[in-house]
Amino acid sequence: MVLQDLRQTWELDSVFPGGSESKELIAEIKWAEEEVKVLAKKSEEFNFTNESFLKLISEMQSFSERLSTTGAFVGCLIAQDVKDKKAMGLRGRLESVYAAFSNVGSALDKQLMEISEDTWKDVVSMPEFKDIAFTLNERRTQAKEKLGISEESLINDLAVDGYHAWSTLYDLVVGKINIKVEIDGKEEELSVGQAENKFSNPDRKVRKDTFEKFVEAWDNEGEFCAASLNHIAGFRNEIYKHRGWKETLKEPLAINRMKEETLTAMWDAISSQKDIFVKYLDRKAELLGLEKLSWYDVDAPLSSANSKMSYDESAQFIVEHFRSLAPKMADFSEKAFLKGWVEAEDRAGKRPGGFCTGFPTKKETRIFMTFSGTPSNVSTLAHELGHAFHSDVLKELPYYATNYAMNVAETASTFAEMIVADAAVTNAKTKEEKIALLEDKAQRSVAFFMNIHARFLFETRMYEERKDGQLSVERLCELMEEAQKEAFNGALAEYHPYFWASKLHFYITDVPFYNFPYTFGYLFSAGIYAKAKEEGPSFEEKYIALLQDTGKMEVEELAQKHLGIDITKQDFWLKGIELAAADVEEFLVLTQK
Ligand SMILES: [Zn+2]
Repeated sequence: MVLQDLRQTWELDSVFPGGSESKELIAEIKWAEEEVKVLAKKSEEFNFTNESFLKLISEMQSFSERLSTTGAFVGCLIAQDVKDKKAMGLRGRLESVYAAFSNVGSALDKQLMEISEDTWKDVVSMPEFKDIAFTLNERRTQAKEKLGISEESLINDLAVDGYHAWSTLYDLVVGKINIKVEIDGKEEELSVGQAENKFSNPDRKVRKDTFEKFVEAWDNEGEFCAASLNHIAGFRNEIYKHRGWKETLKEPLAINRMKEETLTAMWDAISSQKDIFVKYLDRKAELLGLEKLSWYDVDAPLSSANSKMSYDESAQFIVEHFRSLAPKMADFSEKAFLKGWVEAEDRAGKRPGGFCTGFPTKKETRIFMTFSGTPSNVSTLAHELGHAFHSDVLKELPYYATNYAMNVAETASTFAEMIVADAAVTNAKTKEEKIALLEDKAQRSVAFFMNIHARFLFETRMYEERKDGQLSVERLCELMEEAQKEAFNGALAEYHPYFWASKLHFYITDVPFYNFPYTFGYLFSAGIYAKAKEEGPSFEEKYIALLQDTGKMEVEELAQKHLGIDITKQDFWLKGIELAAADVEEFLVLTQK
């Protein structure tokens, strides 16, 4: 089938007709506001029997499905038109519903904790709970490992001003930072985000000048950022101590449903394979006429070779290449294009970035992005189609079996992206274009294996030291630079000691350790991709079965069951790294003088 004249705006009316004016949408929000009160009452007055528990869980799941459909829809309205005030008002109303529903969840946790072990075993083994037994068990274990309900709810209440507030305050300060740089004889005032974009500017002087001013800005705010980070880490450490948790990584690992051995095996495998990526950085330095790269050169472009593709061509290209390894994903993507599930139009007033969202009650997904024809747009489109396919294979499962952790969330998207990225390299029309595409892949590997590794090393050590008191600005800089030197194997001439201040991820309070799940996701997907290439399109059945279990088990079990692999051992991780290394090898051959 030839994909042509595709619509580039998405179809939303079949979910709720009429956008933010939709009567059906407003009625649905009203319903949710009332229903959450009903559920709160039910969970408070709950009398445990197997049947009543089954009924409550099923009501909570169907409520979640409806609420998440509504929430996703309102999110789509705001993304397509950031000035849609009506939609923003509706989002505000939904936020109150989410908060009230999270209290229903806490009341449920209380129920789960109080049930005796025997009763519990009996209830979760009911056939109706087959798909969600893991989630229920997990909820119960996590609730039991915490303090009592009243202490935990006190912590939650105090966290608003004593913990999350540090993160909000950090955002506020960062938002005010202005970086003044002279570019081409003109003074420019840059926000933090704009300054970071300059690190991929082709002109080294622009990169260097911006970096110097950037560091100066963080140095000015250093005391403030250090206080913020010390308090966030202090708060977290203190809670862990009271819960009797000795390891800082306990919570991040539990959230990602993985074992510490797995994380260690992954980093050890990466550490043992750094040489090839150092060679890439050295070659890049040579191509840029430098002895060694500095921090601000790592993302510099080597050339401007950039072929553009139309939207129709991209859709055709993606579907065609999906078909060679994943025919079902190809069929699904074709359907998504034809049904108008993608909002791709390049117009003003849209939110930046890309995402994939789902309407569980409709068993449909939508993709959002702004498509202007660059290779990076094509890979974003493939990436989001991967996410959409993941949701699609989960659509028949109960809601509580469809929530997967951050580390496996990017499995399908990265897999889809890898297929398209490889095809793009193979199909490159000129040597220059091929080099640019390979360099793009190599840059990603450096980000996952070196930059994120540095973040992980820093964060682990910082949390450990924080147990003995606050860390000064100088100490934080020292720890950061040490971590970067180690993670980059000394490949750079200059590092970024203030990275602990400039990286927002260290200040996210909702999720601890916002770093290793990225590297995990990338390599987990690479390992699967390596298998798919070995086995061909027949692998897809196994792949789908794996995706269907992402919300139902720990990652070690997931890999064992579907790939027959023990991910607590280095072998699996080495395979994924090998793929990334092969790209670098090719890059080195093509750029040899
Ligand atoms: Zn993604």
